[in-house]
Amino acid sequence: MKQPGHQRASVDTLRSRPRARVLVIGGGINGLAVFRDLALQGVDVALVERGDYCSGASAASSHMIHGGIRYLENGEFRLVKESVAERNGLLKIAPHYVKPLQTTVPIFSTFSGIVSAPLRFLTHKSGKPEERGALLIKVGLALYDSFSRDGGSVPRHRFLGRKKALAALPQLNPALKYTATYFDASMHDPERLALDVLRDGLDSGPHARAANYVEAVGFDDGAVRLRDGVTGDEFAFQADVVLNTSGPWTDLTNSALGQPTSLMGGTKGSHIVLDNSELLAATGGREIFFEHEDGRIVLIYPLKGKVMVGTTDIDADPSQPAICTDDEIDYFFDLVKHVFPTVPVGRGDIVYRFSGIRPLPGHGDLEPGFVSRDYRIVPSTLGQGTMLSLVGGKWTTFRALAEHLSTETLQLLGMPRTVSTAGLPIGGGAGFPTTDAAMQVWLTDNSREVGRARALQLIERYGTRATALIEELAEAGDDRLLNAPDYSVQEIVWLIRTEHVVHLLDLVQRRTSIAFTGEATHALLAELAALLAETLDWELGQAESEVDTAAEILRTVHGVQLNSRQVGAGA
Ligand SMILES: Cc1cc2nc3c(=O)[nH]c(=O)nc-3n(C[C@H](O)[C@H](O)[C@H](O)COP(=O)(O)OP(=O)(O)OC[C@H]3O[C@@H](n4cnc5c(N)ncnc54)[C@H](O)[C@@H]3O)c2cc1C
Repeated sequence: MKQPGHQRASVDTLRSRPRARVLVIGGGINGLAVFRDLALQGVDVALVERGDYCSGASAASSHMIHGGIRYLENGEFRLVKESVAERNGLLKIAPHYVKPLQTTVPIFSTFSGIVSAPLRFLTHKSGKPEERGALLIKVGLALYDSFSRDGGSVPRHRFLGRKKALAALPQLNPALKYTATYFDASMHDPERLALDVLRDGLDSGPHARAANYVEAVGFDDGAVRLRDGVTGDEFAFQADVVLNTSGPWTDLTNSALGQPTSLMGGTKGSHIVLDNSELLAATGGREIFFEHEDGRIVLIYPLKGKVMVGTTDIDADPSQPAICTDDEIDYFFDLVKHVFPTVPVGRGDIVYRFSGIRPLPGHGDLEPGFVSRDYRIVPSTLGQGTMLSLVGGKWTTFRALAEHLSTETLQLLGMPRTVSTAGLPIGGGAGFPTTDAAMQVWLTDNSREVGRARALQLIERYGTRATALIEELAEAGDDRLLNAPDYSVQEIVWLIRTEHVVHLLDLVQRRTSIAFTGEATHALLAELAALLAETLDWELGQAESEVDTAAEILRTVHGVQLNSRQVGAGA
């Protein structure tokens, strides 16, 4: 791998003081959230992530902050209750990225599943579920509403008969009998939310340090051996407590540290993103969440002017890259046809595809769909210290999970909890205007230099962190990118400077939505790489090689054919 023109400041902070009370291994949402929680308690904490932040399972989600109504039938009442509470909490503490999501379930039968579902959660038997009928869904939704009662952040569910259901969403399959509509929450920018969580931790003081592209590769002489993924240099890092939050790679990290485990049994799930205005209109702006013919719960979800379709649940080997296959794409088209039979969709509509492995516990012969989505913390000894390995943990519960993991860590350190993260705004969610009137006031205060439309775009993109950016733009200018005029040169430079950007793809896939929405072109990659080269002082030739690497990964992993802006069916 190429060397950057200068040493990375984030890695320097680790190398210059190679010890901390706590080392967090893995910068997915769960590692980042526990890093934030510990940092806010004043704990000397360091985090390393071997790729970019939020590039593992956390980058592959269905973008839902949900109570997990489906888990009721597996008897996971604790998890559903906690998830609903966290959903309601995140709507308040991260209102810039977490919004209410109207969800409609088309139902094709009245009674089926009513016997098999309760049996399933009593016996935890594997096997295909019978179709979930209206009665079962009604019972589930009533229970779900009851969990929401205290939070009261979202309205109660509503059932409609066929005629009214089709009047509301005319392109739904006319064979349906009812629709049920309820609210969960959408997280339209998971990567940006994760970066805000990281930022909160880093901003708490120099006792909190983090670096991406640094991997934990071994354990010798009482220290974890870390490898800088950019330079290849290795260095030792000591900590009293090591938190293994490597998601689906938890066992692999434990093996690397000489503590082999077999805790995990991840399953792969994929999504495609379609640019299809007819399908977008057919959803009526709602998530369509339903049971496909094989009993899997799947979704058709309008997002950023596109439609996301997912997902699958297939046993996977985390040592292999997760890629959305052609068979999965066929499955997705099949499910769209099941619900919107008259809306034409084709491979040419796909602008992006992505896949990831859920960090689930090992599950023997239990069908992937029935594996517990709850999490647990497994302690072990590491040298003179302790390691806590995290098994499981959804996006939805990241704050509560982090509080649990951090509390166990504080106990090991003999330190008190001084701050609760419940109710504490995250990043650009602080002071975010949640009413129209408050938004108008914010826009008036922040639009003098950049204009109202641009100020609105920036607060939607960064929450109230936009204020700091707007101050910079007022000084530095706000010149639109030639190949993506929705972004400006100075905005991109701000992201590079303040958000640990190392590679071109960090910018295209995680600091912005450029890849997700199919906006990436060769010319845009070259324009962004030139800004990276200038800002990070890259050596000659690095920009070209970054463009080549980014184009190759977008093509082979995400099926993006850059010049045509379309996904090749056989990529
Ligand atoms: C298809 C799919 C759909 C999903 N949908 C939803 C949903 O809608 N809502 C929801 O709440 N949840 C959803 N989830 C679950 C959720 O995304 C994950 O459970 C969650 O993101 C896990 O986060 P994590 O931080 O534990 O793991 P990860 O995000 O995988 O983070 C672990 C990190 O550790 C790093 N790492 C590994 N080994 C090392 C090492 N040795 N050194 C340094 N770093 C290392 C990896 O690079 C990775 O970034 C979905 C998951 C999938 C796959």
